[in-house]
Amino acid sequence: MIKKNGQMDLIDSPDHTAYSAPVKEEEFYNFKELAKDEAPDLNYLNTRLSPKAIIYPQSEIMFEYSLDESAEDHHIMKEVDNSYSPQAVIGVRPCDAKAFLLVRLNFDTPEYKDPYWIRAYESTTLVGLACDSPCSSCFCTTAGCGPYHEEGLDILLVDADNHFLAKVLTEKGEKLIKAAGWDTAADEAEAGKKIETGKQAAEAKISAFVNTDRLPEIDTVELYKAPFWEDVSFSCINCGTCTFVCPTCWCFDIQDENHGKSGVRMRNWDSCMFPLFTVHGTGHNPRGTQLHRVRQRFMHKLKYYVDKYDVGIQCVGCGRCVRSCPVNIDIRRVCELMNNYGTEKDSCAA
Ligand code: SF4
Ligand code: SF4
Repeated sequence: MIKKNGQMDLIDSPDHTAYSAPVKEEEFYNFKELAKDEAPDLNYLNTRLSPKAIIYPQSEIMFEYSLDESAEDHHIMKEVDNSYSPQAVIGVRPCDAKAFLLVRLNFDTPEYKDPYWIRAYESTTLVGLACDSPCSSCFCTTAGCGPYHEEGLDILLVDADNHFLAKVLTEKGEKLIKAAGWDTAADEAEAGKKIETGKQAAEAKISAFVNTDRLPEIDTVELYKAPFWEDVSFSCINCGTCTFVCPTCWCFDIQDENHGKSGVRMRNWDSCMFPLFTVHGTGHNPRGTQLHRVRQRFMHKLKYYVDKYDVGIQCVGCGRCVRSCPVNIDIRRVCELMNNYGTEKDSCAA
């Protein structure tokens, strides 16, 4: 049990854990590292950008090199000593925590391991905050998640009026609770009952849904050739906002940046919605139109990912892309079109 309203004790633990939490910047909240003695502000609905940058920075230096031929190690890539000291993210919403697990399927596989993402992920403790006031654009309960979902979290915090109840879910969570010295609930059964009641009330407030049941069985090529893509993509301006705000989008580009006789190799977020993303060295672009790019984004999230990993869609229903798209392209509508394709409900059927 921990106190509310700026009195959450974030004790300087022996391993010097750094704490990140939502901070209000003008009208929006974003995750930021807290200064010493700064308390987390948990009076927020959700952040505009997801917390994915805490593990997977928007720009990250991977290597450095020298172009100075008088130096012994010129033109040799040297790994940069990035810091992966322990960090805890306080107040992450359950959808954003689950998103890390979806992304992990890309960065941490038996064949390929991304050391940067894995080191950052493993040094992070995720302290979730259950959602009691989901937005009208949230559809997490039909996207494999929910306002009190626990997957991907180390601790789940639940608002209990003048304090938070903390449900410990992993060893990492246990360690943090001990280091922070938070109180143990006087009556665990009572605390469990409160959490269950809150969960049911929060789930009942979710008013948006998606149907995904037919996505695995629909023929990929048929879906790719469906006539609705022209209508879906018509208004897209390829701004990339939907992919940048999304906790489950992971595309990146690697570039070398030279400054005089030294340089760095960087990884930067990229977006399948940008025309340059797929341009070949020859100048040919296999996704040269907005239809190609919009189709790729939705086919990847709602069909290719479903087929490849068999764990549902590559979306946790946070609703950020719905709220942020300047031309109101709505993944819930596209999912409906895709899921209904070839049935009586298919709006493209003659
Ligand atoms: S946010 Fe909307 S307009 Fe911008 S790239 Fe995404 S779908 Fe297109
Ligand atoms: S696709 Fe949209 S709703 Fe789904 S996780 Fe990404 S931003 Fe959230």
